[in-house]
Amino acid sequence: MSTISFEYFPPKTAEGRAALLEKTTPALQALDPAFFSVTYGAGGSTRDSTLGIVEALCAQGIDVAPHLSFGADDRDTIAALLQRYRDMGVRRLVALRGDLPSGMGSAGQLVYASELVAFVREQTGAHFHIEVAAYPEIHPQADSYDSDLKFLKRKLDAGADSAITQYFYNVESYFYFLDQCAAIGIDKPIVAGIMPITNFTNLARFSRNCGAEIPRWICQRIEGYGDDQESIRQFGIEVVTQLCQTLLDSGAPGLHFYTMNQIEPTRQIRNNLGL
Ligand code: FAD
Repeated sequence: MSTISFEYFPPKTAEGRAALLEKTTPALQALDPAFFSVTYGAGGSTRDSTLGIVEALCAQGIDVAPHLSFGADDRDTIAALLQRYRDMGVRRLVALRGDLPSGMGSAGQLVYASELVAFVREQTGAHFHIEVAAYPEIHPQADSYDSDLKFLKRKLDAGADSAITQYFYNVESYFYFLDQCAAIGIDKPIVAGIMPITNFTNLARFSRNCGAEIPRWICQRIEGYGDDQESIRQFGIEVVTQLCQTLLDSGAPGLHFYTMNQIEPTRQIRNNLGL
């Protein structure tokens, strides 16, 4: 059976935090997700705010998966953070290399996710279920499609249990990717990352950076709506619902929604699905 899960980022303001915990979370929790995940700024730039949201969600009895990366942190700092999470009752992590926050320049360093996975296993044994990232349309810095696949396998072989993909709108890229993963011996679940269409300008900019393609027909349709936000909203829900339904019908092991800390349109898409 397919699961659903929801991703948050740590809000920057007290108002944002209160809205996330008191309004958004009860509404999304009612949709019966397997877990909520909370992103992490590489280099520890959101260490305290990620920890704070994770702690608050744990206190509500919610299954939370903090994202984690080494960034510029040393082993002791990450080991201490892992211990804090264990003490809170966290059982799941999303282990990443991460990207350096802009402005950090050469002051930061990046440690491959496979090394973090190995470190977490070394420190905490089988305690955590570890998720890693996967890229059906290839990670933008990868040397080649094949090398990116090889490094995904390395993360899973280092002890990760499953993967969550970067979002995509070309469903064929995901199915092709699953076939290629199977061909090199990857047999762990690869959950589909789902990005609802909210702010199209921001989405288009972000997609250029992370290497996710927005198909031309979607761009053309949205541009054709001009300032008609209601039509864009409805079209976005229709397109992403269709994408999710195709994934579910084809046996995708799960859908992980990048909620952007919003209830809608994730709730509407979820309610449209034959789950
Ligand atoms: P890795 O798996 O380490 O790979 C990074 C690149 O290096 C790839 O091109 C890979 O092919 C290559 N590579 C891997 N291993 C080796 C090796 N041994 N030698 C040479 N090359 C290698 N970013 C954040 O900052 N915070 C978050 O919370 C966050 N959450 C995310 C959640 C999901 C589900 C996804 C899909 C992405 C998320 N990201 C997040 C973005 C992610 O951090 C970036 O895409 C980052 O650039 C790569 O991280 P990774 O863990 O995939 O890296």
